[in-house]
Amino acid sequence: MDIARFPRIRFGHLPTPLEPMENLSRVLGGPRLWIKRDDCTGLSTGGNKTRKLEFLMAEAVAQKADVVITQGATQSNHARQTAAAAVRLGMRCHILLEDRTGSTDPSYTDNGNVLLDHLHGATVERRAGGSDMQAEMQVLATKLAEAGHRPYVIPGGGSNPLGALGYVNAALELVNQSTERGLHIDHLVHATGSAGTQAGLVVGLQALNSPIRLLGVGVRAPRERQEAMVHDLGCRAWDLLGLRGQLSREAVAANCDYVGDGYGVPTPGMVEAVTLLARTEGLLLDPVYSGKGMAGLIDMIRKGRFTKNENVVFLHTGGSVALFGYPGAFGHATH
Ligand SMILES: *Cc1c(COP(=O)(O)O)cnc(C)c1O
Repeated sequence: MDIARFPRIRFGHLPTPLEPMENLSRVLGGPRLWIKRDDCTGLSTGGNKTRKLEFLMAEAVAQKADVVITQGATQSNHARQTAAAAVRLGMRCHILLEDRTGSTDPSYTDNGNVLLDHLHGATVERRAGGSDMQAEMQVLATKLAEAGHRPYVIPGGGSNPLGALGYVNAALELVNQSTERGLHIDHLVHATGSAGTQAGLVVGLQALNSPIRLLGVGVRAPRERQEAMVHDLGCRAWDLLGLRGQLSREAVAANCDYVGDGYGVPTPGMVEAVTLLARTEGLLLDPVYSGKGMAGLIDMIRKGRFTKNENVVFLHTGGSVALFGYPGAFGHATH
């Protein structure tokens, strides 16, 4: 597998640490829980989009872009990290934010990631929930090109085959870490949304012949659709890498039972998970992704899905900046 031939700009603080969660393991009564700290990747507080942007922004540079366009939900971590990456490269950043939750809480609409988008100097425009965001980006790209700019369009979540290479790399990194310390990892669990993270991981793990079982915890789509998205994107990343054979469909597993009322809408399990991690491990999860991912992991542990001696790694994909968009979910009035 030859990832080195793809141009890459080093934004990440890599490798990210792999740390034991002894307190949480004790409180939950096993299995042995670990956390892979991709919340510490750097780039405007870090998160999983850093690894994808290393490849995507390298392509933007190669195409001599002077402005990047991307989209996400109001509290998009991807938008915030893309804005920071653009700053590093002296490019403008134009963000389209979709109102997926309908929340009118000013903390949600203007604090957290939105505050940082503005702080990084990005141009931010809003779109109604349900808009065709890909089409909206194309319209904007055409307009900017007509005005003499060279726009580069990054899909939501940075999830295309090139962006997914960031997580093929992360799989390599994790397998190396487990070998170095003689740790047998049984399961890897993380929040899955636009699918690039899981697609990259599933490709990387299969390409390395790793026995680690991967499970995505969905935050938006139902299981069938989420797994199809991951597998489809994984196949395209597989082809991009020129790997032989084909990506296994069986290796793609998502549990989408923890979405609740919808994307970005708090659930009691998320609130419990965020609070528990804050108070047992001193770790900050987020309300939209890692909080629901951890809620799923906790529930599966309580249902006996893992044995006491198994090693389960939770991939912390970042996002804690969004906590400041959701004070009400944690019992704090905004004003
Ligand atoms: C984007 C994001 C995810 C989901 O990653 P995908 O590649 O979109 O599936 C998970 N956690 C956080 C914090 C994110 O910002």
